[in-house]
Amino acid sequence: MFENLTDRLQGAFDKLTSKGKLQESDVDLALREVRIALMEADVNLKVAKQFINQIKEKISEQRALESLTPAQQIIQVVHQELVSLLGSDQCKLETASTPPTIYMLVGLQGSGKTTTAAKLALYLRKQGARPLLVAADIYRPAAIKQLQTLGGSLNIPVYSEGTSVPPENIATNAIDFAKQSSLTHVILDTAGRLHIDEAMMAELVRVRDKVSPTEILLVVDAMTGQEAVKVAEQFHNTLGVTGVIMTKLDGDARGGAALSIRAVTGVPIKMIGTGERPDAFEPLIPDRLASRILGLGDMLTLIERAQAEFDERKAKELERKMRTATFTLEDFYEQLQTMKRMGPLSQLLEMLPGVGSAIRRQDLQIDDRELKKVEAIILSMTPEERQHPEIIKGSRRRRIAAGSGTTVADVNALLNQFNQMQKMMKQITSGRIPKLPGLFG
Ligand code: GDP
Repeated sequence: MFENLTDRLQGAFDKLTSKGKLQESDVDLALREVRIALMEADVNLKVAKQFINQIKEKISEQRALESLTPAQQIIQVVHQELVSLLGSDQCKLETASTPPTIYMLVGLQGSGKTTTAAKLALYLRKQGARPLLVAADIYRPAAIKQLQTLGGSLNIPVYSEGTSVPPENIATNAIDFAKQSSLTHVILDTAGRLHIDEAMMAELVRVRDKVSPTEILLVVDAMTGQEAVKVAEQFHNTLGVTGVIMTKLDGDARGGAALSIRAVTGVPIKMIGTGERPDAFEPLIPDRLASRILGLGDMLTLIERAQAEFDERKAKELERKMRTATFTLEDFYEQLQTMKRMGPLSQLLEMLPGVGSAIRRQDLQIDDRELKKVEAIILSMTPEERQHPEIIKGSRRRRIAAGSGTTVADVNALLNQFNQMQKMMKQITSGRIPKLPGLFG
């Protein structure tokens, strides 16, 4: 996500190579590039202008900081401004003081509303809640079926009454059902149309007035760019939206909608969808997202995802192994299994500082088939070989290649990479973190 914006911004900072004091000309050059980057990302015009002005002001206040290089100074200020554009502090989903908490999901058809309802339910359940999904879109039987299928596959209950009961009644009945069944959260999947129309809004207002939801969450598709911002304005004016969930940020969305929506409507983005899988869903944390956009990585989110998959003891053990550089191919294999559960490799790598753009710059293909090859190679090794890869010489390499259906070159490549990785771990753990490519040059 945000690939183009990240690349453009890094390009702008890369040009600031002089180490001396920040010059007026440096700033002008960088800001011109930042402005182009924002325009290309489809950021709202007014928002972009304000953004650039803020940065100018901050930088002139900051000139005194001579310990930083010009690039570092500008990156720091751009980071601060991105954070404030995204809303500064994380806006968490509200919870009702007496259960059930009611989240009313609204949005246009195709925005990802039904998928998001299921994602939200799964997200809440992971935090110990007992959610109920409610099919309140009575115009599209397919939407009801879709919700039932999603709920079924995630083992989350779905409440529906078909297509002949008014949605506001379905909603109140569902809430009664949730109370009786001690469920903690009710997620209403309401009807969407292809375009905003009065009948739809009137229906949503009726549902809202009947159930007084804890949150009215508008689901918008990031790929629709500034259109998403307009949609948000209209929904907000009629319904009073309390939070936005932005979907499809994994796609080739340019990101402008995500950066503009709060500044234009005043409504914060609370959650983001980053893929089709039910777990491709996370809270928007302004500080972290700003770092990701600037290609500075998002280690915290990565660590949290890892924690969700790892158990504590294993994580500690892994940390110890990395610290003492006794990480073996056996551990590496186990890591691969955990990583596969965490999400697609390319998405994970993007969260590492400097890696996302490095991958794109070199046009490296990271696909999950490569992973299968690596797995097969490791599986063809003996336990001793996995513990001590240095004993894998010529004849062992040939045997492993034959056993895994790969070539000796593949085996060599893996062993080399593993060797590199171990060296890097030693560097990191000894405090000599390798220089980030291109960033602070
Ligand atoms: P609805 O009409 O608003 O209920 O939309 P759906 O939930 O049916 O979603 C429309 C399409 O968008 C489906 O193909 C979803 O898989 C897809 N989708 C939803 N959220 C995301 C997301 O975050 N990323 C991607 N790539 N696709 C998504």
